Amino acid sequence: GTRYGIQEESREFNLGKSKELPPLRNPEILIGENDLTSLSYLHEPAVLYNLQTRFVERNAIYTYCGIVLVAINPYSELSIYSNDFIQLYSGRNLGEMDPHIFAIAEEAFNQMSRDEKNQSIIVTGESGAGKTVSAKYTMRYFASVGGSGDESTVEQKVLASNPIMEAIGNAKTTRNDNSSRFGKYIQIGFSKQYQIIGAHMRTYLLEKSRVVSQAVEERNYHIFYQLCACYDMPQHINSIVVSLLVPASNFEYTRNGNCIEIDGVNDKQEFQETVHAFTLLGVSSKHQSLIFRLLSAVLHMGNIDIEETSNGSSHCFISDEHLQTMCSLLGIEAKHMAQWFCHKKITTMAEVLITPLTHDQALGSRDALAKHMYAKLFDWIVTKVNRALVTTAKEHSFIGVLDIYGFETFEVNSFEQFCINYANEKLQQQFCQHVFKLEQEEYVREEIEWKFIDFYDNQPCIDLIESKLGILDLLNDECRMPKGSDQSWADKLYAKHLKTSKHFDKLKISNTSFFVIHFADKVRYEVEGFLEKNRDTVQEEQLNILKASQVSFSLQCCITTSHFPPYGKVEVKAGVGKQGSAKVTVSRSHRDSLSKLMATLNSTTPHYVRCIKPNDYKLSFTFDAKRAVQQLRACGVLETIRISAAGYPSRWSYTEFFARYRVLMVSKEIVRKNPRKTCENVLQRLIPEADKYQPGKNKIFFRAGQVAYLEKLRADK
Ligand code: ATP
Ligand code: MG
Repeated sequence: GTRYGIQEESREFNLGKSKELPPLRNPEILIGENDLTSLSYLHEPAVLYNLQTRFVERNAIYTYCGIVLVAINPYSELSIYSNDFIQLYSGRNLGEMDPHIFAIAEEAFNQMSRDEKNQSIIVTGESGAGKTVSAKYTMRYFASVGGSGDESTVEQKVLASNPIMEAIGNAKTTRNDNSSRFGKYIQIGFSKQYQIIGAHMRTYLLEKSRVVSQAVEERNYHIFYQLCACYDMPQHINSIVVSLLVPASNFEYTRNGNCIEIDGVNDKQEFQETVHAFTLLGVSSKHQSLIFRLLSAVLHMGNIDIEETSNGSSHCFISDEHLQTMCSLLGIEAKHMAQWFCHKKITTMAEVLITPLTHDQALGSRDALAKHMYAKLFDWIVTKVNRALVTTAKEHSFIGVLDIYGFETFEVNSFEQFCINYANEKLQQQFCQHVFKLEQEEYVREEIEWKFIDFYDNQPCIDLIESKLGILDLLNDECRMPKGSDQSWADKLYAKHLKTSKHFDKLKISNTSFFVIHFADKVRYEVEGFLEKNRDTVQEEQLNILKASQVSFSLQCCITTSHFPPYGKVEVKAGVGKQGSAKVTVSRSHRDSLSKLMATLNSTTPHYVRCIKPNDYKLSFTFDAKRAVQQLRACGVLETIRISAAGYPSRWSYTEFFARYRVLMVSKEIVRKNPRKTCENVLQRLIPEADKYQPGKNKIFFRAGQVAYLEKLRADK
């Protein structure tokens, strides 16, 4: 059923039921309309038909749905992003022009100056839907309208952050050749004259596991291949590094997805661009070579041979060529590293034990270090980029652009999907509250009566995840216990939530998974691996070796700093104990950064872009309705429509109404110079049920279906 206590007359618009009923047809005038909420009949088939008509027949990839811009990936180069188009949209009102990403950017820019308020553009959608492309277009728009026109200035630097972040945070996946494996919120700062003066970004949940392993047909982060592609051209890289580089096909970490090259991508050339962007942002060549040195060390690490011994433990030869290379790149002692790849230290009250690791454990501990080093390097580069973009002048206001992974459900869902879906649950709440507030404000402004009833709120689902003794709380407790396990965590979840939460469920036959009923879908999470991923530990002894590195102070900083700089810093609670070793778990840090993000978004005027992937084969202008509808549900577009449908979705100004329905009026109903009275007169006769419309101050509001009815009368005339 619907999530809104929709009143009786709108029951026919119950979106879920549309299969049983023949879809109610919208009048011709509304087909292809560029705002979906103006449809008189607001059901799924109508919405889809309208989007499809626009997309396939008119190649219109953008459509509004109330305040949301729906953007369908065309998978083909369009000529609508030139500077001429930027000029065309600049200074215009939203309704004046065809829907466009530039129109949303203009709207944000305009509202920033008009209302003196910070703005956000929130872009979501599934992998490959076009989020990053859209986010980049908004940034280009701002660079153009808020630029000084002088090349090599701050707006060039802001744009240069994109290739850097893509090099270190994007990778080829089966869904997208340039898939962002992290979330990003970039705040572009403006002066009082609304010129760009700087920027600052925060990142979310980098996918670390990719550093050490990739699924078939997928790659590691682009930067590794870019670097390896240059093994034969030392001019750009520190010569020590280059002498130790080989093609990517020789490194375990870059070849295990069995995919070295991407069609149409020249890694060598991309490398030049990355280096160029680094240079533009003032990253010194010394620091650049430090970065490449670290990256090569990570690659060599993956090739270190760790053998299984006859007694089931592991061994690493100090003479191992890759161990030697890695250690010389990092300026550390090979014999120490070899020792701590294969052993661990356990400190108890009474003694310190050094125990050998099994072969699997040893490989795991090596990989954990590689992931850690990469993640630290990533953070360090973000810090560097931010430092280069720091505002020197006083920031008057900002526009933030959020490019973050949408809701995910796969065959097997784990900790990563859980964190992503949790983020989307929060964003969805923010979105619904905003849409609702706007609707309410319009009704208040127009002085019409409308009682909001039973507004669907996903707070109960959010509570299940983040409240005291919620899923995350129990997970963190379990991680703190020396004998904690995925299984005992799952048992505690079942015991606590099965009976009490409507959003929690499990299969009778399985004790290794649980369901969360999210706003978008019911998702099954496998508990295996949650604890380890949440703890995300690296061996202290290995870190100590890195800390003793002879290479350079900066290198040490970037790989051994405390766990979550600079955004995840947690307030040290009184009473936690002076060791401060209550280490921050991944989920804890994620929760904190999400709550900061929500606070920021709530302090801005939000604008929403929902990207839709029209098919799974990257075919140009091909619309798979089934795939589209899934995404429209998951990104809240249908939710907006539901909110609309529960109220008075159609509205006309009195003059518009008069002009359109003049033919339906009889002369005694027409009151000269008073379109409102005229409108009321004619509607009294045509629509006897008083609740089906409401005259407001400037507009007349109709319940769903009424405009279709009037159109029919008009057509019959
Ligand atoms: P991910 O979550 O994997 O990062 P994404 O939503 O950021 O995915 P993009 O990388 O923005 O997806 O887009 C994927 C590809 O789709 C682009 O590389 C480009 O080829 C194509 N594409 C997206 N938007 C457009 C557009 N407006 N015009 C032309 N092509 C586009
Ligand atoms: Mg992306």
